[in-house]
Amino acid sequence: MSFATLGLLPALIRAVREQGYHAPTAIQSAAIPAVLRGADVLALAQTGTGKTAAFALPVLQNVLQQRGEGLRQTRALVLVPTRELAVQVGEVLRSITRELPGRIKVVTVFGGVSINPQMMDLRGGADVLVATPGRLLDLLDHNALRLTALSTLVLDEADRLLDMGFADELQRVLALCPKKRQNLFFSATFAPAVQALAETLLDSPERIEIAAPAQRSAAIEQRAIQVDEIARTPLLRHLLETEAWPRVLVFVATKYATEHVSDKLWKQGIKAAALHGELSQGGRSKVLAALKDSGIQVLVATDIAARGLDIPDLPVVLNYDLPRSTADYTHRIGRTGRAGQTGVAISFISGQSSNGEAHFRLIEKRQGQRVPREQIAGFEPKQVLSPAAATGGVKGKRPNKKDKLRAAAAAAAMAGPGGESTVA
Ligand code: AMP
Repeated sequence: MSFATLGLLPALIRAVREQGYHAPTAIQSAAIPAVLRGADVLALAQTGTGKTAAFALPVLQNVLQQRGEGLRQTRALVLVPTRELAVQVGEVLRSITRELPGRIKVVTVFGGVSINPQMMDLRGGADVLVATPGRLLDLLDHNALRLTALSTLVLDEADRLLDMGFADELQRVLALCPKKRQNLFFSATFAPAVQALAETLLDSPERIEIAAPAQRSAAIEQRAIQVDEIARTPLLRHLLETEAWPRVLVFVATKYATEHVSDKLWKQGIKAAALHGELSQGGRSKVLAALKDSGIQVLVATDIAARGLDIPDLPVVLNYDLPRSTADYTHRIGRTGRAGQTGVAISFISGQSSNGEAHFRLIEKRQGQRVPREQIAGFEPKQVLSPAAATGGVKGKRPNKKDKLRAAAAAAAMAGPGGESTVA
């Protein structure tokens, strides 16, 4: 299949060539003709499948064909859960518009920064708007834009939008959009809340499913290493030394841990940086640029901070702390193995609570795939809970408060007086 056979105009085919894409990915082959036709689309696809261009190309083509001589009006709105994703999607759209005639204006807006420059950007209108829901509502409240001429609404990472508690904001935005419009719905998972939203939003959608577990596991090798909580940083360092990974994204549970783990690595001569939600936009951009140009090797991040990140050539994702949910696990490991490359996702299994065997078993069960347990010589855990005992112990439930207290006490005892129990 080639881009030329999908119904794209020559200017868009040129844009694709400029991006260095030779052939459409599976989601692009399926979505582009459907979006050009004006159909609603429900796409189950992870980041890394080429989903951004799958909606960006046909949406821009439709906008190009709708644009008249008159006032600039917002024809397409892309709602995203995080500012990083907003910036990335905005960049993809803008790089395509550079090749198009007629100057399509793309504006990106997100919260956490001053609203004034964004209001200035919106002066004179925007043809395509990429936005996080809260900031979009603020701008609508300020009369900085109108959605009355909207013809296409894209929800990107719809599952994240809902996970992050944007359901009310979404409904408020939907109420301000024209009823007759095209809806494109992209989600990595199809949780019940996502399904319910899709049902109310979409009109006889074209259903596209790309991230089938079998395909996912072929591109991403999953590993699980048993290690004591206190030995996780030394093991991470050992792996960095022995495996020669050029770039690693390490996930931890808290902002404190991003700094603590990256500081420890840094002190041991490993170029590491922290990425968490409280960094300024400038700080985040600097860290990400340093990772991309190899100024740093290890990025230690929380789930929220890493949401929607597109790091090209990321061979390894490492769960230092396990994610809370299977959806988070899917998102985390989807940062590697992108656009046809292979990747490795490693999970440290430690202790007995939220990082423990029972919790990981639940993730395996929900993703429908078992991951063999490993131990690394010199880092064998002192006490290993067998998978069977672990599931029996908590009856497949997330650890309760008592489990957590017990695990914290055990970890503190292992760390000894003055030792660190939560982050090794
Ligand atoms: P996405 O799933 O949109 O986050 O895209 C993941 C990565 O795949 C990005 O770095 C894109 O630049 C790249 N990509 C998207 N479409 C193609 C394509 N047709 N051929 C090669 N790479 C692509």
